[in-house]
Formats: sequence, C-alpha cells, structure tokens
Amino acid sequence: MKFKSWDNTKEIELSNCPFCDSEPIIKHIGNDYTKTRSIEIKCPKCRIKRIDTALRQGFSWLEEVATKNWNQRSMHNKPLEPTRKAERLS
Ligand SMILES: [Zn+2]
Repeated sequence: MKFKSWDNTKEIELSNCPFCDSEPIIKHIGNDYTKTRSIEIKCPKCRIKRIDTALRQGFSWLEEVATKNWNQRSMHNKPLEPTRKAERLS
C-alpha cells in the first residue's frame, strides 16, 4: 500500500503485514517540537507493531527508517537494528 508522507510531499510504499497480509496502519506521535518523535506501524488484525523513535531527527527521516524497517521485516523476517543505532550511522 502507499500512503502520503507526513508533510504531503511524497508517497511512501509500505508492505503488507508479514503474518496475515493485511494493510498496516501508520501513526505519527509527536511533532518536530516535541522532545522525541515516534512512528508506529501496526497490523489491525494480528496486532503486531513496531515503533521507531527519533531524538534529533525529524519525521521525514524517521518515516524512511520506519518504513524501511517494516518492509525488511516483511521480506526477510529478520531481527531489526535499534533505531538509535541507525541514527548514529546516518
Ligand atoms: Zn497481521
């Protein structure tokens, strides 16, 4: 499925749930002025979810990380790196 990015500038591709193939729900928590920002991606059917949090980076960056991690999980079903490590690497 595709959804509009938080600032409406682009479309982001999100894979279906790796377990039941449902369309996931994405939720933005906080904004650029709160201490941290989080993106929650979850499956409405089997209720699995992952949350990625950014301390310094904004939602644009976080959306890319969160969707990439979710899509990787769908395809390869492997353990994910913690977000903060990804933040340091960028
Ligand atoms: Zn599911």
